[in-house]
Order: sequence, then C-alpha cells, then structure tokens
Amino acid sequence: MLVSDSLSVNSCGHLTIGGADVVTLAKKYGTPLYIMDEDKIRRTCKEYMSALTKCWGEKFLVQYASKAFCTKYMYKILDEEGFGADVVSGGELYTALKAGFPSNKIVFHGNNKTAEELRFALEAEIREIIVDNAEELELINEIAAELGKVANISFRIKPGVDAHTHDFVKTGQIDSKFGVALENGEAFDFVKSALSYKNIKLCGVHCHIGSQIFDPEPFAHAAELMMEFIAKVKAELDFEVSELNLGGGFGIRYTEEDDPRSVYDAVKSFTDVVRAQAEKYDLSLPFISIEPGRSVVAEAGITVYTVGSVKEIKDIRTYVSVDGGMTDNPRYALYGSKYTMVLPERAEETPTEIVTVAGRNCESGDLLGENIHLPAVKAGDLLAVLSTGAYNYSMASNYNRVPRPPVVMVKNGVDKLVVKRETYEDIISNDLI
Ligand SMILES: *Cc1c(COP(=O)(O)O)cnc(C)c1O
Repeated sequence: MLVSDSLSVNSCGHLTIGGADVVTLAKKYGTPLYIMDEDKIRRTCKEYMSALTKCWGEKFLVQYASKAFCTKYMYKILDEEGFGADVVSGGELYTALKAGFPSNKIVFHGNNKTAEELRFALEAEIREIIVDNAEELELINEIAAELGKVANISFRIKPGVDAHTHDFVKTGQIDSKFGVALENGEAFDFVKSALSYKNIKLCGVHCHIGSQIFDPEPFAHAAELMMEFIAKVKAELDFEVSELNLGGGFGIRYTEEDDPRSVYDAVKSFTDVVRAQAEKYDLSLPFISIEPGRSVVAEAGITVYTVGSVKEIKDIRTYVSVDGGMTDNPRYALYGSKYTMVLPERAEETPTEIVTVAGRNCESGDLLGENIHLPAVKAGDLLAVLSTGAYNYSMASNYNRVPRPPVVMVKNGVDKLVVKRETYEDIISNDLI
C-alpha cells in the first residue's frame, strides 16, 4: 500500500508523486533526493482552514509548526494558504522573515530561548512569544522594557494528559522539560506573575501534548482542562485569557497499520469541548490556535535512494545499503520509527523478501528500517521511503561530511527545485583555516 494519496503507479509500473514519475526525477536530480507534492501540502492546508471555519468560525489561526519542514518556499505556500507559523529558533524566524512571511502571524516557542533570539523576535514584532518558564518571562520583560515595547505572550502549560504515543514525543505530562504544570499550581502562579510585569501583555495559554497522536480523547481532555484553567483564572484573578492554543500532534500514515482521523474530525473533537466548557463556565469563546506540523507535510514527501549493496548474512539478516541514511532521516535511529518502502522502478511488484535497510554512515545504528518487505532488490535499484515530508530534511545533518540532499516540489505534475543539493564547498564554507 502506498500510504499517501499523493502516490500512484503509472503505466510503466513506476511510482509517481503528484503525477510525476519518480524514476525520471531521480535520474534528473540524482539521489538521495527529497520529493514533495506541493498540491498535497496545499490540499491539507485547505482542509485545516475549512475544518476550523466550519467548526469554529473566524476567530482562529492555524500556525504551522516550522520544525517539521522549514524552507523559504514552504513559508510562501503557507502564506498563500492563509496559515500562520510557529518557530522554535532564531534560524527558523530568520528563514520565515527572509521568505517575506508576515511577522504578525509568527509565534515563537522553545524551552530555552536565548536573549539574542528574544530580542530578534521583539524587534521583528512577531505575533506572540510562547513563554516556557519564569526566568524567560523576566528576561522578556527586561528586553521589552529596553526596546520600549510591550511583549505579547502566551505561556506553555503541561495539562497532565497522557497522549498515548511514543515516550520520546510525549510532552503533556508533568515530567517534561516543556512548560509549567497545571496540577501543582505552577501555571496559576505564572499567570499572577505575568499580570504584574509592566512590559508583558498576557494574551493566551498554550498546550502541546505530544506528536503522532491518533486518538481524539487526549486532545479533547486537554481542551477541557485548559478551559477549566481559564475559568479558574477568571474567577480568582478577574482576568479573562482570550486565546487558547492547543498545539499540534495530529497523526499521519507511515504504514498500513496507521489509521489517522480526518482533519475535520480531529478539529471537531476539541472545538466541541471548548464551546461546551465556555458555556459551562460563562466564558467568551476564545481565539483558537493550533499548530500542526507533521500532518501538513509528512505524507506529501518521499525520499529516493540508490541501493549500493545487498549483503546477505546467512540465517541472520540481509542488509540493503543505500546512498543516504541517518544524515537525511535520523528518525529510525532516534525513535525506531516505522516507514513503508517501495522500489520505484517496480512499484507494483509483490514483496518477496524481508530486509534491513541500512544507511551509509559510520554507525551501526544508522538504519532506515528493519523487517522491510521488498521485491528482490539488487545494487543499482532505486528505493523510496514514503511519508518522509516531516522531520527528515529539517533533521538532516552533515555527519560524515555528507552533503544534504536537495528538495524538489511537484505541482500540477511539474517539478521545481526548491532547495539545491549541498556541495563539498558548502560543507567547508565555515572552516576558517
Ligand atoms: C512539535 C510541535 C508541534 C508540532 O507537532 P506535530 O506532531 O508535528 O504536529 C506543535 N507545537 C509545538 C509546541 C511543538 O513543539
């Protein structure tokens, strides 16, 4: 199964993405190669916009989580689709601004932003800084005072919700490095102190409970707890928080076993709860933000490699080595993430072998997948890993001084190079002597 509606097989038996022949693109641009279906990204953006419009009306902003895939061209797409963006570093903010993305649609996240980054964000007059901790709040107040500005902030709350996902991508529980906790009163004290700072304007509260979540229940539960908190703040401090940011984390399909809900169902699961809670506690309907990252881009992308060797170790396993690896996709090494793989030249052939796909880097842990079902594969074959649009290019590195692959976008069946392949010159460009 091809897991994404971007993908199909043409009359030559070749894999296609967005209507373009993957084998042709691999020949034209070389491998390893990231290919993304721009139409698919735009379709997903439109699904989010229409789901929120239907379920919530006009008081919302969808802030794409840049860290999933961050390039100048991506911000152009987002801007045209009416999205905002969240950034987690000065580098992402810089990329967005250089792409001409409107600064008043950018929010800034992170559990340890530097003073330099905060100054950059305040000078650029971004929409909001999402504050993580007390030291940061004080620092923002100081820098804003220096600049003669008032900083718009939300702050990040750990609502104490178990997101039923991988331990490494859970973030809503009290033992997390992100944000302040609800259940021990930390969040409440935080609001009190935020209200006392002269150069801070508290606008909203934020939570993000984790990633690759399929179950609607944790989102609904988080929304319920956040609204209870807003009600408590109103009752005890006579201050009504006007914005509620519910984060991202909507799951996507990597393999046949993954069964994500529609964007509409995901959105409805929390807007219904927010509305009911507003009624229950007699609150105004808040401005809602969400921050999908993975779900906007993951299924729109694939990575194409060339197989270099097939090493059969009798009675143990067969290693299929490709010309990329953890340098363009560290997710298997980091979390054991599962992917679907296809031979683009023979996309419809039935799998007959179970192999381990290994990268080219000097680490035994540099694998792209184990127990991968493929047709008989040999050196020189192309191999495609599906659903690599998120957290692949953005997590790529130059380990072993391997140049990062280019990114090609396909729109209406026509390909366009949006990020060029790194060269050896690029790799030594910061070496001074
Ligand atoms: C990573 C992250 C997101 C996006 O998560 P996805 O699983 O990619 O949708 C949103 N908000 C915050 C604060 C994040 O850290």
